Amino acid sequence: MILFVQDSSPANSKVSVLLHVKLFLAHNWRLLLGGSAVLGLCTGAWYGIRHRRRIKRRPAKSRYPGLHNIGNSCYLNSVLQALAAVSNRLQIQPTTPFTAELLRILTSLNKRGGTLNAQSLVATMGGSLNCEQQDAHELLQAMLAVASKSQNPVQENTANVYPAQTTESRSIPWELSMANCVRCTACGQTSDAGVRITNIAILTLPPSTMLESSFLTVLQPDHLADYSCHCGKIGASFKLSSLVRWPPILVLHVQRLGVANTMIVKEEAAMQFPVVMQAWRQEGHLLRMAVERPVYMLAAVIEHVGGVGGGHYIAYRRVRENGNRSRWLYCSDSIVSEVTVDQVLLSQAYILVYERT
Ligand SMILES: [Zn+2]
Repeated sequence: MILFVQDSSPANSKVSVLLHVKLFLAHNWRLLLGGSAVLGLCTGAWYGIRHRRRIKRRPAKSRYPGLHNIGNSCYLNSVLQALAAVSNRLQIQPTTPFTAELLRILTSLNKRGGTLNAQSLVATMGGSLNCEQQDAHELLQAMLAVASKSQNPVQENTANVYPAQTTESRSIPWELSMANCVRCTACGQTSDAGVRITNIAILTLPPSTMLESSFLTVLQPDHLADYSCHCGKIGASFKLSSLVRWPPILVLHVQRLGVANTMIVKEEAAMQFPVVMQAWRQEGHLLRMAVERPVYMLAAVIEHVGGVGGGHYIAYRRVRENGNRSRWLYCSDSIVSEVTVDQVLLSQAYILVYERT
């Protein structure tokens, strides 16, 4: 649930108030998780009820489990449902109490059964997952970071993919690899840092009417107005980015929160996203290399219903049955029902999970 701040102070102090409260949450999130149960259940249920009225649902033919709201936990529940849609590709190892419990819940979410409770998972989150996870995207980021430590990165044979100087590679299934550098248009030189390869678990995209255009915006050269090149020119450099590896699981986060006139605002506009897509092509690759363009299939969507001041997270997820037959589920805490894929495509996507076919 996005933090709710009721504040009548001047607009320009609103951000600092938010930060203070967020810091408080960072240190007291366990207490608040329990203490705000009533409030969370009330607001979450209220948004959930309002949202359910908008969604035409068919009676669930199969009883796939939902998750109890254990107090402001709709963001956790939606993340778990989204991960369950790709659990067979995650390759998470049960080497820690957290990953063992995570695997247990994800496995249960793919079997018919009664409503589950993620309390036991929350109990394993202390320490390494102590961040201010009031936001589904931050929580997912933190969970994937912890889960990646449970894996044994296997060195891939990337000789045909990477230039010799960028052979570092990992096989974390949800990480895509980006090449970045800073280049000056006055002297044509690349900065001393050279080309760096970065592995990204969740790619954040700006809001746009189409998912593809949003992605391509991320790859546009970024003007560094204050950057001073060693040739003496200031403001002639650009940060260049190119994608070098598409992962088996592609996790995209649509940045719907922004600042307008010093106020935090939510971008409500719809963005079209496909069910099946071929990975996009980038013109003029930084490393002058050809990148394989795999085909992806939509596996899950997390949507935030409500405004900056509060709201409710729900997930749409695909379940596979009997081979390739799949159906789509609407998951709002303990409520799980079947929906059509057309209804999923009408959602206001906040996090998108795609699976490589
Ligand atoms: Zn220069």
